[in-house]
Amino acid sequence: MQVFLAEHSGFCFGVRRAVKMALAAHNSNDDVCTYGELIHNPQIVQKLEEEGISVCKDIEHIKGKKVVIRSHGIAREDLELLQAAGNEIIDATCPYVKRAQELVSSVKDLPLLIMGDPDHPEVQALLSYGGKQTKIIQPGEKPEFQNWETLCIVSQTTQKLSNLQELVAQVLPHTLELRVFNTICNATTQRQEAALQLAKNSDLMIVIGGKHSANTRVLQELCQQVTRSFHIETAAELTPELLNDAQVIGLAAGASTPEEIIVEVYNQIFRIKGEPHSVQQIEEIPVYKEESC
Ligand code: SF4
Repeated sequence: MQVFLAEHSGFCFGVRRAVKMALAAHNSNDDVCTYGELIHNPQIVQKLEEEGISVCKDIEHIKGKKVVIRSHGIAREDLELLQAAGNEIIDATCPYVKRAQELVSSVKDLPLLIMGDPDHPEVQALLSYGGKQTKIIQPGEKPEFQNWETLCIVSQTTQKLSNLQELVAQVLPHTLELRVFNTICNATTQRQEAALQLAKNSDLMIVIGGKHSANTRVLQELCQQVTRSFHIETAAELTPELLNDAQVIGLAAGASTPEEIIVEVYNQIFRIKGEPHSVQQIEEIPVYKEESC
């Protein structure tokens, strides 16, 4: 049996930065909370709570604290409320998300489509920076055709490039001027391409990440198009039935999946298979390259 990890798996730049900023904001005298769960990973959220960094959700009751804004960003009105209540803001909005917010704001007087999941906080925050003609469109949803003179498009940072291309192809014939801002983050594209490459050469893909993590779910969707694939949150979900008789197993992990969990999953696979092999750190896991198999 061979087990490989897809390149670019695990914490992306934005998530690593947000966790670092939250930990740095925390010292013994400060009351620090994150506005919403810092990342879509329950194990990391619990670890932060153990460090004394709580999760605040009820915005009306957040007063006089240090409030960490997560990498997805925050709606404009919510930010104003937090500031007005005398909180100190530690803005860990990922710079790539920030760029998307600024772009939305810069074209808010024009018709604008934000392509993404309407329930995702990043998309809701993006919407708040738009204007009256800003709308959310879900990936794969047919746009309501109008003859737009000018139309702008931005994307949720974690969307698939193919979804954005599909939307552009649909609206272009109905638009005199189309302004497409490619706000899909490189980390996402690289992670998706690497996972797909590994999936094509694996009997089984295990995609590791929080069940609510949008980018992990997209990885799972991509992988299952080419091979048997499962989305798990922790090593405890692995079973002998799931591993079955796979000879080449691929691992991929979302942007908010901590390295420790990837290591645990890797070790658990060998434990289940009764093979005496384990690693201490993620660097010891073989990373898949084209010539690996
Ligand atoms: S996936 Fe990209 S945009 Fe999102 S937090 Fe990570 S680096 Fe930033």
